[in-house]
Amino acid sequence: MADAKSGAGTDITSVLKEKRVFKPKAEFSGLAHIKNRAQYDRLYRKSIKDPEGFWGTLAEQELVWHKKWTKVLEWKYPFARWFVGGKINVSYNCVDRHLSSWRRNKAAIVWEGEPGDARVLTYQDLHREVCRFANVLKTLGVEKGDRVAIYMPMVPELPIAMLACARVGATHTVIFGGFSSEALKDRINDSQCKVVITADGGYRRGQTVPLKTNVDAALADAQSVQHVIVLRRTHEAIHFEPGRDHWWHEMMSASSNDCPPERLDSEHPLYILYTSGTTGKPKGVLHTTAGYLLGVTVTAKYVFDLKEEDTFWCTADIGWVTGHSYIVYGPLSNGATVVMYEGAPNYPEPDRFWHLIEKYRVTVFYTAPTAIRSFIRWGEQWPRRHDLSSLRLLGTVGEPINPEAWMWYHHVIGAGKCPIVDTWWQTETGMIMITPLPGVTPTKPGSCTLPFFGIDPLITNKEGRELPQNHGGLLALRRPWPAMFRTLYGDPERYRRQYWEEIPGVYFTGDGARCDKDGYYWMMGRVDDVINVSGHRLGTMEVESALVHHPSVAEAAVVGRPDEIKGQGIVAFVTLRGAVEPSADLREELRGHVTKEIGALARPDEIRFTDALPKTRSGKIMRRLLREVATSGGIVGDTTTLEDFSVLDRLRHQEEE
Ligand code: ATP
Ligand code: MG
Repeated sequence: MADAKSGAGTDITSVLKEKRVFKPKAEFSGLAHIKNRAQYDRLYRKSIKDPEGFWGTLAEQELVWHKKWTKVLEWKYPFARWFVGGKINVSYNCVDRHLSSWRRNKAAIVWEGEPGDARVLTYQDLHREVCRFANVLKTLGVEKGDRVAIYMPMVPELPIAMLACARVGATHTVIFGGFSSEALKDRINDSQCKVVITADGGYRRGQTVPLKTNVDAALADAQSVQHVIVLRRTHEAIHFEPGRDHWWHEMMSASSNDCPPERLDSEHPLYILYTSGTTGKPKGVLHTTAGYLLGVTVTAKYVFDLKEEDTFWCTADIGWVTGHSYIVYGPLSNGATVVMYEGAPNYPEPDRFWHLIEKYRVTVFYTAPTAIRSFIRWGEQWPRRHDLSSLRLLGTVGEPINPEAWMWYHHVIGAGKCPIVDTWWQTETGMIMITPLPGVTPTKPGSCTLPFFGIDPLITNKEGRELPQNHGGLLALRRPWPAMFRTLYGDPERYRRQYWEEIPGVYFTGDGARCDKDGYYWMMGRVDDVINVSGHRLGTMEVESALVHHPSVAEAAVVGRPDEIKGQGIVAFVTLRGAVEPSADLREELRGHVTKEIGALARPDEIRFTDALPKTRSGKIMRRLLREVATSGGIVGDTTTLEDFSVLDRLRHQEEE
C-alpha cells in the first residue's frame, strides 16, 4: 500500500486483490497472428528502439499509397506529423483495394435494423455507394477541407457517408444520433460544417428518434450549413426546406459511379470527433489521415486477430471513436466482414445481441463494461437461450471492467474458451493502446495488461517522477504514436496545456493506473474522480469492484464527499441485480463486504440504492454529477451529455427517503 506520508500528492493507493490468471489456449495461439511472448517482445522492443523503422515497415506492408512518404515522423513537441510527404486516401484503402481480389464479393457490412430488416453490402456494393455519394457531395459544392456533419442512425449509409467524405477529402464530424438539437448545434458551429447528412428518423427501443426535426432546430442557429441531405429511414413526415434540403435517394439516382479518390496529404484532416463528455464539456478531437489509418489497421488486425473468415461485431455506436476505429476504418481497411446493428440491446427482448450472434455466426465480439453489467442484471437466461459457439474472441472498451463482470463475460458469453481483450484507449489516442494480444497475453480479470507496439506508458506523479511497481499514479505516455490526435480543433493551445503540459515532457491521459510486477497495467478510474480518505487517495474502480463482487450488486459508483475528520468520506450509489430488494440490512452487509474485501479505509460512509446511474450517451458513469448529488443535492455542472435526465430526479428523491 502506498504510504500516505510519501508526500507525492498524486499517488493513488491500490487495494484491489486480484490473483486469477487465464492463459490463452494453445489452439488459439497456434493460429493467431502473434503467437507467443517471444514474438511480442521482439516486435515491442523494435517498436520502441526504432519506432520510425517499425512504423515505416508496417506502413508499407499494410497500406496502399499514392505516393510514398519522405519522413516517417516529424515531432515538434507536442505536435506530430507522420509519414510526411506521403499521399494516400483512406476510402481507397478501406474499399477499392479489396476489389482487385476475390474480396470484391465478400460481405463488408452485414447490417440489421432494429425492426429486423437486414442488408448485406459486399465490398463491390460498398464501393459503388461510396463513389456515388462522394459525387453527391461534390455536386453540392463540398471541397477538400470542408467540414461535413453526419447525424444519422446506425444504418449502412452512415459509414458510406464517412467513406465518401474521406474520398473527396472533406473532414467529417459524426454526431451521435441520440444527441439533442442543442448538442448538435454546438458541434456544427464549433467545426463550421457546410453540409449536414441526416435521416428522417431512426429506430431506438421501438420508438423513432426525430433526427431531421432536431437538425431543423439546430440549423436555426447554425449559419455555416448550406445543404442538408436526408436519408429516408422511418418514412415519418418531416419539414423539407426547398433549396437547402435534398433527399439522399434522389441525389444518388442522379449520381455517377465513377469517382477517383483524391490523393490526400498524409496529414490531411480526416475527422473531428467530440469526446463523450464524462469529465466535462466535450472537446473536438482532430484526427488526420495516414497515421490514424495505420494505427487502426494494425490494432484491428493484431488485437482482434482478424482473419479472412471472421465476422467481427463491435457494438459501439459510430458516433463514438470506437465505432470510427473498429466498425469502419480498422476492419474495412483489413478487408474484414463487420456486423452493424441499429438498435437497442434489449429490443424487443434482452436477448437481441445473443440472437444476432447466433444468426450471423459472429466470431469476434467487442462491447463495453456498461453493457456487460446490464446483461448481468437482466440475467443469464437470455444468453443461455442462444447458440454462441461461433464466438472465438471477446473484447471490452470504455471503462475499467470489474473483475466480476469480466468473469461473467468469460463464463457465460465466452463459455470459458474465448480470450478477452480489455482494451484501454481514448478518443484522443485514436487506436487501442494497452491491451492483451489474444494469442499471447495471459489475462488477469480487471487488467488491460500490456502496451501495444510502439506505446510507451508510464505511471508517474504530477512532477513527472516515475512511480515504483504497484504504486497507483497518473497514466502517461512517453512518445507520439501514429493514430494520436493532432490537436483540439481550433484550440492548439488547449491541446498543449491540457494534454502535454500537465506533466512535464509526456502525454497525460487523465486516468489513474498502476503497473504490477509483470508489467501489467490496472486502470483505477479517472484522476478527477479520485477520493481522498484520511490521506489515502483511492481510485473509484477498486472500491466499485468490491461492491460489484457482492452477489446482490449489479453496478456501483463511488464518489467522495467532504468529511471533517477524514477529508473525504465515500458515498456509494448501488444498483441491485434483478430481483433483489433494497433494505437497511443489505446496506450494512455491503459496507461490511467492502471492509472485508479491501479494508476499513474504503468502507462507504453511505450507501444509496438507485435503479439507475447517470451515464453519458456512450454509457459511461458520470461520477461528477453523483458527486454533486452527494455533496449538495443539486446539479449545476454541464449535463448536455447525460443520457437520461430523469435519473437525476430519481437520485434526488432517493436522498429524501
Ligand atoms: P471526456 O474526455 O470528454 O470526459 P471520455 O473520456 O469519457 O470523455 P472517451 O475518449 O470516449 O471520452 O473515453 C476514454 C476514457 O474511457 C479513458 O480515458 C478511460 O477513462 C476510459 N476507458 C476506456 N477504455 C478503458 C479500459 N479498457 N479500461 C479502463 N478505462 C477505460
Ligand atoms: Mg477523456
